[in-house]
Amino acid sequence: MADTPRKPSREEAEAAIRTLLSWAGDDPGREGLLDTPKRVVEAYGDWFSGYGEDPAEYLKRTFEEVEGYDEMIVLRDIEFESHCEHHMAPIIGKAHVGYLPDGKVVGISKLARVVETYARRLQVQEKMTAQIAQAIQDVLQPRGVAVVVEGSHECMTTRGVHKRGVSMITSTMLGTFREDARTRAEFLRFIDVGSGR
Ligand SMILES: [Zn+2]
Repeated sequence: MADTPRKPSREEAEAAIRTLLSWAGDDPGREGLLDTPKRVVEAYGDWFSGYGEDPAEYLKRTFEEVEGYDEMIVLRDIEFESHCEHHMAPIIGKAHVGYLPDGKVVGISKLARVVETYARRLQVQEKMTAQIAQAIQDVLQPRGVAVVVEGSHECMTTRGVHKRGVSMITSTMLGTFREDARTRAEFLRFIDVGSGR
């Protein structure tokens, strides 16, 4: 990304956290908070590690020797933690990914890595859903890709309207999943969203 602003130094990032601690009404100089900026900056390194990763890299190593397997492959209940780009509040949820291979099959852990890479960035759930599907479509070029994401948004459960137990469901269907209602129905049956299983 050519127009990405200069990455601040670690000291600058820690100073910003001290500013937020003061803004919250506390004293960043008191003992209990002295190491907090350092810890928060380290936590950011974890929560936002997805910026340093390329999902396409995970998908490039494919297995083509699958004896002509051309049926649907579904990985469901991929847990993720993300952060909304509007409030930087956590989004906790699960993603379900399916595709219809056209020769290329990828190890299932790689699908989970793709979800994780996009989740570990600031996100809008709709965008994340589409990005996961598009990355799989672009690299594996399957006959179709389906992604369903269920997320609970803490910006909604802990502030604002304070609605607990609400989850948002988004989906992106490409290729056969978009065009063929039976394929789509088969996928939705596999993942069984919202049945409280
Ligand atoms: Zn939000």
